[in-house]
Amino acid sequence: MSTLIRLCGIAALVISLSSPTQAQLGALTGKGDSKDSKDKDNKKDKKKPPDAKVEAKNVAKYQDVKKNAKTKYDADTDFRDDVEQAFSELMRDHGERAYQKNTQISSRIVSVREDRWRVHENLYDNLLVQDHINRIGQRLVAAESERAFAFKVIPDPTPLAETLATGTVYISTGLISLLDSEAQLAYVLAHEAGHVEKNHWHERVMLEEYQKAQSEAQAKKVAGLRLLGSISGSMLGGAAGQGVAGKLQAGFFGANALGDLGANVAALLYRPLIVDWDTVEENQADDFAFKAVLDANYDVREVPELYVTMQKVAARDVRIGLGFLGDRHRIDQRLEHARDLVANAYKQEIDAKLKNGFLSMSAEHRNLMAELKRDNGIMAYYHDMFELARANLKEAVAIRENDPAAHYYYGKVLKQIGRTDDDLKLARDEFYKAAKFDVHDENFGSHLHLAMMMTRENNVDKKIVAEELDDYVTNYARWNLMEGTLRAFPPNLDTVYEYMTLYGPPNWTPKPPILPEVYEQVNSLRSSAPPPPPQQTSPAKVQAPAETPAPNQKTTPGKTPVPNVPIPNTRKK
Ligand SMILES: [Zn+2]
Repeated sequence: MSTLIRLCGIAALVISLSSPTQAQLGALTGKGDSKDSKDKDNKKDKKKPPDAKVEAKNVAKYQDVKKNAKTKYDADTDFRDDVEQAFSELMRDHGERAYQKNTQISSRIVSVREDRWRVHENLYDNLLVQDHINRIGQRLVAAESERAFAFKVIPDPTPLAETLATGTVYISTGLISLLDSEAQLAYVLAHEAGHVEKNHWHERVMLEEYQKAQSEAQAKKVAGLRLLGSISGSMLGGAAGQGVAGKLQAGFFGANALGDLGANVAALLYRPLIVDWDTVEENQADDFAFKAVLDANYDVREVPELYVTMQKVAARDVRIGLGFLGDRHRIDQRLEHARDLVANAYKQEIDAKLKNGFLSMSAEHRNLMAELKRDNGIMAYYHDMFELARANLKEAVAIRENDPAAHYYYGKVLKQIGRTDDDLKLARDEFYKAAKFDVHDENFGSHLHLAMMMTRENNVDKKIVAEELDDYVTNYARWNLMEGTLRAFPPNLDTVYEYMTLYGPPNWTPKPPILPEVYEQVNSLRSSAPPPPPQQTSPAKVQAPAETPAPNQKTTPGKTPVPNVPIPNTRKK
């Protein structure tokens, strides 16, 4: 029960920590927004950006409120204590969100009908990509920064980025898959880090507390309404607290409409935490990002291009444009701001850097993007985000010609949405490549789809169709029988196969554990248990690594290596 209350508290807090929309500014300043809303009513469908003058005025008012809050924070000890307590609660809640993502299953292999693929959850389960993104992020933060940052990739085809008060920056595979270069990626990461570096979460909490203090009774009433709104919103599985609220989006893993209240509130933790930062905060983060990206020697002239890409993509699919982009009509403003920074404020610095040249895209980055775009393309395909799926998978096969899964899903998306004979021919060719490169006989669906498409062709070679159908059935059966055994291996076995083609012996196959040997090892561990570690000051449960024999002894020097007993044939001869 206490968890429930605490979680409701998060919902209310996060939702009420919203951007200074016009309505809120009205509430904050005691003045209405009738003029602007009338304007809006007149041009309902045009979705024109709010009048620049009105917005500038509102921003100024909002900054006044912020300034007053800061003054109160500096002068009033009680108020400061309230803010610090609320902030530490927020930190705990964000820590909880991070914990959920860090400790839940990250990936598993599934097969549904003729498809077999790896599902990613919570965190994108690709170590090299995670490391690569984190490294780019760490290079952007000043070495002397007092904060610690972590840059992590979440598996979600919707382009979004979010920042926790803990210093964690999440960026979705969907967003990364749309970025054309390392420079653009660096910019998004730096922008999100900027919200942390500039202490925006703390600022939000301070404003919230200030609002409460200013009008205790009214705030209580409003908070109560918001709380109700957030719960009913989450029960409907919709985006909780749209409008006035901070757009805590339901996202793809949103609450189940039929679940119980506890489950729904818990589901809030799994949702992307999307906050509309205010214009000033966004500009601060943009400016921080510009400088950071330039200091790290990335070509900031690519940043406006990023907004142009986002504009195009957002226009095609309403699901795109969440998170990093914030409000849709702000994309234009941010594009203009970025162009302005390139042309004016940073012009000299850019010209100076140009003399030595900017960092160009590394081969490593390109190669890792092939994996990420394939995986995101598959996710997008299953979300019926066809355009994104097609674009991602097209790029994935262009970078890595011999990836059977990328060819397979590219074929599937082309076959699904293709209209012309050329589309279908292309789909067929993709299934052909998927089958050709299926060296582990695990991409069984490619043989089925290839056979199906061949049957429609004139002068079809019946023998080949029959062979492909036979491959499909045989490989499917083999996969099903082996599935149990394969579950003993890490879910990223496919990725390891890829690395083994680069670094390992040819024809490498994983070694299944030999049960009698495992039992023998367990017994010998038991008879020679290490003595308790000396001088433990706290009752630590974990023993020092040096004194703990590795459970898997096969890599320990001096031990006889486990003989290589291949599992049932998984590759073509
Ligand atoms: Zn932002």
